[in-house]
Amino acid sequence: MRAIINAKIVTDKEVLDGYNLLFGKKIIKVTKELPIWAEVIDAKGLYLSAGFIDIHIHGSAGFDVMDGTKEALEGMAQSLLQTGTTSFLATTMTMSEEAINQALIAVQEHKHTKGAKVLGVHLEGPFINESKHGAQNPKFIQKPNFELIEPYMDIVKMITLAPEVEGGEVFIKYMKENYPHILLSVGHSDASYEVTKKSFSWGISHSTHLFNAMNPLHHREPGIVGAVLEDEQISCEIIADLIHVHPLFFNILYKLKKEQLLLVTDAMRAGCMHCGEYDLGGQKVLVKEGEARLEDGTLAGSVLKLNEALKNFYEHTDITLPELIAMVTTLPAEKLGLNVGALKEDFPADFVLFDEGFEIYSTFVNGEEVYKKG
Ligand SMILES: [Zn+2]
Repeated sequence: MRAIINAKIVTDKEVLDGYNLLFGKKIIKVTKELPIWAEVIDAKGLYLSAGFIDIHIHGSAGFDVMDGTKEALEGMAQSLLQTGTTSFLATTMTMSEEAINQALIAVQEHKHTKGAKVLGVHLEGPFINESKHGAQNPKFIQKPNFELIEPYMDIVKMITLAPEVEGGEVFIKYMKENYPHILLSVGHSDASYEVTKKSFSWGISHSTHLFNAMNPLHHREPGIVGAVLEDEQISCEIIADLIHVHPLFFNILYKLKKEQLLLVTDAMRAGCMHCGEYDLGGQKVLVKEGEARLEDGTLAGSVLKLNEALKNFYEHTDITLPELIAMVTTLPAEKLGLNVGALKEDFPADFVLFDEGFEIYSTFVNGEEVYKKG
């Protein structure tokens, strides 16, 4: 048994001082006790929370899920540790069937990577609306087609799709009935307020990067944004890089959505890298000054790190630290129905040590320190 002492422990409700975290491969407990046989690690006053979960991430450190290789998944998993991310959904793009198959097979075969855990796959497209393709290649958009994804039901955890397209309603109802644990999300969609509301009754329960790749909120056309803000049951995610969404909306959104708001990075392969030219789903992307854009100027995912997203959100809102950390731990875990993301007994010992600026000092996965700030 090991023990972290001298940490400010952030649970989903409070920040605990004077407590220790006891763990092996799994969390044992958060307690004031310190058994004499425990191997002690001194956190020197840093914050400690459950490891972060990113349910929308395409790439990092030069690697991309669509590379469809073991190296790409391992490279991502390794590099994400420095951002405090201990698990993620490998997120695909709208590309050829061949490329999507290759990416999904790679996850099936190599999901047990060292480093951050691959919890499964988030399919972003290809069942989206051409008019809101954003940085997804419109050439490869398809009507919702269960056959395409059927061989991968063991790894698919989330699907971003446009409910208004032909076949959308049938597909959503089928998925909801047969695979209720898969999170269905409206995104890259032109749906009206009315259609979005209907789609919630069919089985949609989340919205992908709210505000981006959908119609803006209009007082006569509330659209997807209006429908999501109105319904307490529906969760949503935002990319808090200060580019995709104006920070004014961080506070407004948190007041309205509370426990239904998640932070994601939507990072592409240039995440954790330098400025330059990269590839995203077969398209050229230019990265400079923290922005990733296609040649025509369209935002092409982000180069955001999840710990930076937390910092940005914290600085622009009056949210408490436990509420903030929940946005990347307990909330995404609950949405996916997985036993991760909390410092609870018998949960895997995935946790991070960070300072007040959200800089990551240490990342633990299954009780092992897999990243330490140099
Ligand atoms: Zn994305």
